[in-house]
Amino acid sequence: MSNIDILDDVFEKFVNNAQVFKDREVLRHDYLPDRLPHREDQIKLLGQTLAPALKGARSSNLIVYGKTGTGKTAVTKYVLNHLEVKAKEFHAPVKFCYVNCRMAGSEYRIFANLCQNLGVSIPFTGLAAGEVFDRFRTGLESTGTLFIAVLDEVDALVKTRGDGLLYELTRMNETLSRSKVSLIGISNDLRLKEYLDPRVLSSLGEEEIVFRPYDADELRNILLERSASAFFKNVLSEGALSLCAALAAAEHGDARRALDLLRVAGEVAERKGGNNVIEDHVREAEKHIEHNRVFEALKNLTLHSKLVLLCVSHLNKASASGAITGEIYEVYNELCNEMGITPLTQRRLGSLVNELDSMGLLNAKVVSMGRYGRTKKIRLEITRSLIRDVFADDSRLGRFVEYEPKCLAKSR
Ligand code: ADP
Ligand code: MG
Repeated sequence: MSNIDILDDVFEKFVNNAQVFKDREVLRHDYLPDRLPHREDQIKLLGQTLAPALKGARSSNLIVYGKTGTGKTAVTKYVLNHLEVKAKEFHAPVKFCYVNCRMAGSEYRIFANLCQNLGVSIPFTGLAAGEVFDRFRTGLESTGTLFIAVLDEVDALVKTRGDGLLYELTRMNETLSRSKVSLIGISNDLRLKEYLDPRVLSSLGEEEIVFRPYDADELRNILLERSASAFFKNVLSEGALSLCAALAAAEHGDARRALDLLRVAGEVAERKGGNNVIEDHVREAEKHIEHNRVFEALKNLTLHSKLVLLCVSHLNKASASGAITGEIYEVYNELCNEMGITPLTQRRLGSLVNELDSMGLLNAKVVSMGRYGRTKKIRLEITRSLIRDVFADDSRLGRFVEYEPKCLAKSR
């Protein structure tokens, strides 16, 4: 088939067989469903915590804990949306602002977001931290409202920048008279407490809500509801649905993972031109997702870690029994030399190996060498073809993909 015929075939198959998804968008992470089954308790608790705001009283600060994909963001947005409706109905002076701290990236951007919500403009950069804070405070005071600030993925902020911003915010009410601020911190990390100053913790943690992981049955229900709007009738098989739920439950009860599996399985079915999503498609989806995860991880490594992987790949090709650190170091030095960069010390290289091991990209196993003591044998945990795929396009490393290290040729 000519190129154009191939493409025509792909497009026609797609258009003619687009009977899989009724609405693919409802499987996206940021889609907010009308119903959130199995989170009734959390919705109620959050509602009870925030309700005083409707009568003009400051609601308690709150920390929401739970692993990723347990519905924290969805539930919080759901409750706040309804609070907003009720606040209008009762003419309660409530305002709220949702900020994802990880995406905002810096304290400056978080404050800028909060300010924007109050109609206070902040330049993209350039102001001193204290100045931004003052503008927020003055802006807030002038509105005379109860301001609820939702800081999602606050653990990401605290781990990289400390808890200074939280400290400022928790102390702010002392200097406000017409307005009040309440905080909701959402954390994917259950150990958030360990990162907080006791004063911040006692203030922010006035209330706590925990989101435990979903089990397979709960995930099934969630997927069942979502699939009714995502897929056409009778497209999704019972087995495929249960498998998505089971795989995600085994992960850590992650609804996001379950929805990803369902979406990608649908896409696999669609590409095959069928109109039935079956268990095989879910298995294939699992591989796709895993492949993408590893691909992204590889692309984001530092130059030296990438070099280490390349070296292990070359050594494993030469001998299947696994490489020792000394050999890796020799090949690594040669590649650094070729590139004209300074190699790291062997000790530093050893810690890169350990890091790659804990990421699941390498496997370093301690083996006994009889009376010569013990040594580490290091192997690739991923396929060499994956390494090739990722590094072939790399402007600096591409040429080493098919490279034959001289030091290896010598030792043969
Ligand atoms: P978290 O913030 O805890 O990481 P999210 O709230 O982002 O998790 O949820 C991940 C995905 O799963 C979202 O698409 C969300 O709509 C969905 N989801 C989570 N819990 C439920 C639930 N109980 N019912 C329906 N969908 C849910
Ligand atoms: Mg979230």
